[in-house]
Amino acid sequence: MSTRCHRTVVPVLDFAIGGDEFVTMAGPCSVESEHQLMATAHRVRRAGARVLRGGAFKPRSSPYAFQGLGLEGLKLLVAAREETGLAIVTEVMSESDVPLVAEFADILQIGSRSMENYSLLEAAARSGRPILLKRGMVATIADLLRSAQVILDHGNPNVILCERGIRTFETAMRNTFDAAGIALLKQISHLPVIADPSHACGHRDLVPALARIGVAAGSDGLIVEVHPNPDKAMSDGDQSLDFVEFDAMMAALEPWIALRAIAAREEPLNEHGLAEPCPMEAVG
Ligand code: PEP
Ligand code: MN
Repeated sequence: MSTRCHRTVVPVLDFAIGGDEFVTMAGPCSVESEHQLMATAHRVRRAGARVLRGGAFKPRSSPYAFQGLGLEGLKLLVAAREETGLAIVTEVMSESDVPLVAEFADILQIGSRSMENYSLLEAAARSGRPILLKRGMVATIADLLRSAQVILDHGNPNVILCERGIRTFETAMRNTFDAAGIALLKQISHLPVIADPSHACGHRDLVPALARIGVAAGSDGLIVEVHPNPDKAMSDGDQSLDFVEFDAMMAALEPWIALRAIAAREEPLNEHGLAEPCPMEAVG
C-alpha cells in the first residue's frame, strides 16, 4: 500500500485517546457503593486520571462471585462523572445490554471473555460510542485485530485496543503481560493501544512496574484498578492499588511519559493499515 496511514485519535468528552496526551483510566474493578466510587473518582482525578473505570456488569470467573450492581452501578458512574468531569468506561457483556450501557457510558468496554463475541461487537459498534476492546486471554494479536476490524466494518472508527495479559505456561502471575504485543500493535495498527497492568499481573506490587513497561512500549494510556480499601474489594482486590499507591505510581510515571512523547515523534506508523489484510496475516 502506498498511501500514508493516519493514526486514529478517539475523541472522548473534552480530550482524546491516541493523540499527544497520555490518558490514564482508573477506578475500581466493580462499582460497589456510592461512597467507594465517589471517593475513588475524586482521588484518581486529582492524581491525573481522565477516565473513571468501574464494572456495573461483571464477567466473573466463578458464577458464585459478585456479578455487579447493574443499572444502579451505571447510575453511580454517571453521578461520579457529574461530580468530577471524568469520562466513564464500563463493560457491556451482552448484546441486549448495549443500548442501556451506551446511554450511560462514554466508552464501552468489551471484556477479554467477550472479544470474539461478534454479535456483541456489532451491536456495540452500532451504538456509536468509542469502544475499548480488551484482548482475549487466549487471543493472538491477529485475533484482536480481526475483532477490531468487525467494529470498524460496522461503521464505528473509534476503537481503542487494550493489552491485559494473556495465558501462558507461567503461573507466578495471573497472566503474562505481552509488552512486545503493544509495540507491535503500535507499528502495524493505526488504533490507540492502552495497557492494563492490573489484570496483566494480578498483584498490586507489580502494577507500577508493568505500567512503566506499558508506557515504554509505546502505549497511549493505561487502565488501572484502584480501590479505597483493596483488601475489602468485592472483586480483584489483590491487584488493586489503594489511593496512596496510585498517587505514587502516577508521580513516578511522569518522567517516563515525558520520554514517550519524544520517542513517539520518531516512530512513524508502518505503511500497512489495519484495513489491509497483510499485516494481520503476517502476525497470525
Ligand atoms: C475488568 O476490567 O475488570 C475485567 C474483567 O477485565 P478483563 O476483561 O480484561 O478480564
Ligand atoms: Mn477487574
